[in-house]
Amino acid sequence: MTAVVKLENIHKVYDSGEVKVHAVRGVSLELAPGGFMALMGASGSGKSTLMNLLGCLDRPTDGRYLLDGIDVSGLDRNELADIRNQKLGFVFQGYNLLARTTALENVELPMLYSKLRIPRGKLKERAARCLEIVGLGNRLEHFPSQLSGGQQQRAAIARALVNEPQVLLADEPTGNLDSKTSIEVMGVFQALNQQGITIIMVTHELDIARYCKRNVVLRDGQIVNDVAVSHPLNASEELQRLREAEAAVKL
Ligand code: ADP
Ligand code: MG
Repeated sequence: MTAVVKLENIHKVYDSGEVKVHAVRGVSLELAPGGFMALMGASGSGKSTLMNLLGCLDRPTDGRYLLDGIDVSGLDRNELADIRNQKLGFVFQGYNLLARTTALENVELPMLYSKLRIPRGKLKERAARCLEIVGLGNRLEHFPSQLSGGQQQRAAIARALVNEPQVLLADEPTGNLDSKTSIEVMGVFQALNQQGITIIMVTHELDIARYCKRNVVLRDGQIVNDVAVSHPLNASEELQRLREAEAAVKL
């Protein structure tokens, strides 16, 4: 199967006049459809830079990036924005939901920027369906402040899904969540991945990376480790285990 994401010897040099920072130094990477990759590495190793490149938010200084077979390395800003809307969904550590806007309206938002003209009714229907997928079917009219952190992140995942992306990019999606809620959110990602969505997520938590199928480690802008996780943890099983442990304590 052809790769959905293919990086060929990608470099990124930040050049602010006097100093040059060579943040990504010759990264090559292939991810097949249905992949689920954790991108790891110390602070400053180039994770965010690489995610920005993968997310078509920035262009490489050198090298080639094929996204779903399309060479995006030379596209201009507008073309990159189109590709982003068509093929990618983004999830952030801080959820980035609009505060005065309901869950449903937050999820509708990316469709308003889409080139496809979707009728108002359809828009609502599709947003509601995405919220159902992430288990928030009963929270459509809630504002972010009325949702827990885990629920806000799930609303953000629904928003990332609404344009039916091939790839989800998540930067520290569990960074603000407690460990049980983090596992719940990883369960949402695992369910989506099982349905065929390719996922790349930055995390510096080893525990969280074990829910992914592949772990890639960056150091000084280079890949220093790239391993398949032999037995990824299953979020539903881990949550069941936690519940049993809690019940045992209460007995
Ligand atoms: P990480 O996300 O792993 O912490 P980054 O990709 O943010 O790493 O940073 C990698 C390197 O690039 C660091 O040395 C950082 O200081 C530098 N860097 C990141 N963004 C910029 C920028 N916009 N301009 C100049 N240097 C940058
Ligand atoms: Mg970073």
